[in-house]
Amino acid sequence: MSDVPRQITLEEWDRRYEELQRAGIHQPSYSGPLSRHVEDGDKRLLKLRYDNSAAALRLWNFLLTEEDRLHEARTSGKKLVGTMKDLGTVPVMAYSFDNVVAFYPDGAWWIPCVMELDAGLLEIADSLGIDESFCPVRAMLGAFVTGAHFPLPDLLTCSVGATCDDFSAIAQRLNGLGYPILWWEAPHRRSGEPGEATVKLPGGFSAPKCQVEFVKSELERLKTALEELAGQHLDEKKLSAGIKKANQVCMYLDEIRQLAFTTAVCPMPALEMLIAEMLAIHFCSDRDETIEVLKELLGEVRTRVQAGKGVLCADAARIFWVNPVADLQVMNLLEDCGGRICGTEYLFTHALDRIPEDLSPAEALARMALADPTVGSSADRAQRICADIRRFGAEAVLISRIPGASHCALEGEVIGEIVQDKLDVPVLEIEVSPVTDSMRPTLCTRLEALVETVRERRKR
Ligand code: SF4
Repeated sequence: MSDVPRQITLEEWDRRYEELQRAGIHQPSYSGPLSRHVEDGDKRLLKLRYDNSAAALRLWNFLLTEEDRLHEARTSGKKLVGTMKDLGTVPVMAYSFDNVVAFYPDGAWWIPCVMELDAGLLEIADSLGIDESFCPVRAMLGAFVTGAHFPLPDLLTCSVGATCDDFSAIAQRLNGLGYPILWWEAPHRRSGEPGEATVKLPGGFSAPKCQVEFVKSELERLKTALEELAGQHLDEKKLSAGIKKANQVCMYLDEIRQLAFTTAVCPMPALEMLIAEMLAIHFCSDRDETIEVLKELLGEVRTRVQAGKGVLCADAARIFWVNPVADLQVMNLLEDCGGRICGTEYLFTHALDRIPEDLSPAEALARMALADPTVGSSADRAQRICADIRRFGAEAVLISRIPGASHCALEGEVIGEIVQDKLDVPVLEIEVSPVTDSMRPTLCTRLEALVETVRERRKR
């Protein structure tokens, strides 16, 4: 059995799975050959390349069995909460109860990619008046209507206020279709006026104290609704324990990211890193297992780093990636073109930053919610990106535009200008649709050009 780190196809994974089985490697109950997920219609999996470690197998199986887990949770009497748009905060609160499971209906964003447009969700959204001028999150409407991708939640929450136009329109349409939503407001984060009290947020932004107080009161409303749903009281002790667990996830991810983005030979591919980061936003419907999955992934990364082994050439161009890609295959493509990921800003950095444990838990969560990169200005986002480019030593920035996304129309340009101004690194903006097959040659040319530019600059 070869333990040399490399990227393999789905077919190769099935053979390797058999090898791992024969070698008696422990695997969790949801494990199995990855190709079985293609039978559910996840055809894009056939075109991806995967890391060949047992840790990566566990990560993928964990991700791809989320729907089963949600059904099991309901059968066992747990309450399901669909937490829309905040990408991190409400799940921390929800998982502080022992009988509540939170998930992101927004995750339907990736169904058109994973099922290569076969699920018909975008057509359903079209028929409901939400056409392709909206971002791929419109697939969520189809997922609610068909009920085929996640069980309908017992409670649906959605943050509003500083929310992109796409999401607010789509969530209102959902509400209009008869799905009740508990709205809560996250205001646009602003700088303090002269003389106004401000507080530092996780990740480095700051916000006026009154905004933090306001979000705290909104979270209090959510807490009451969750308590009614769960039939349990959520006291400070339980919420603090929930924050500690969430911070364990952040701690593992922080080390994995640090090693994967800064070690000379990249120890973990971009695609697995993207999946791992995504676990932070809602723990893939099982917070404790998320911790175990990340612990094993970190173990693999540490082992590879100590052995000086990795999956890509040491001279790969070090790219900082901004925004999540609608087509997962593009993460493989970057590596095929000679790049590697050295830093990311996938719109949820607030879920990766440690939540303060030295404050009241309500205050800490309010600060986390206001640290969301999407509730502040694009200039704020750019500052954070610059800080992380320095931290991870990236040599270029790639901004992947999301088709139809209202936050992307000009934001990429604003971020690009600030980054170039401050750091003098090349910036490329590309648009990534849910299935990029027809654009692959163009994307390849553009990615290769960026990699070439990085290599030329190294000769200076
Ligand atoms: S427009 Fe951007 S922030 Fe809004 S739902 Fe789409 S991807 Fe998310």
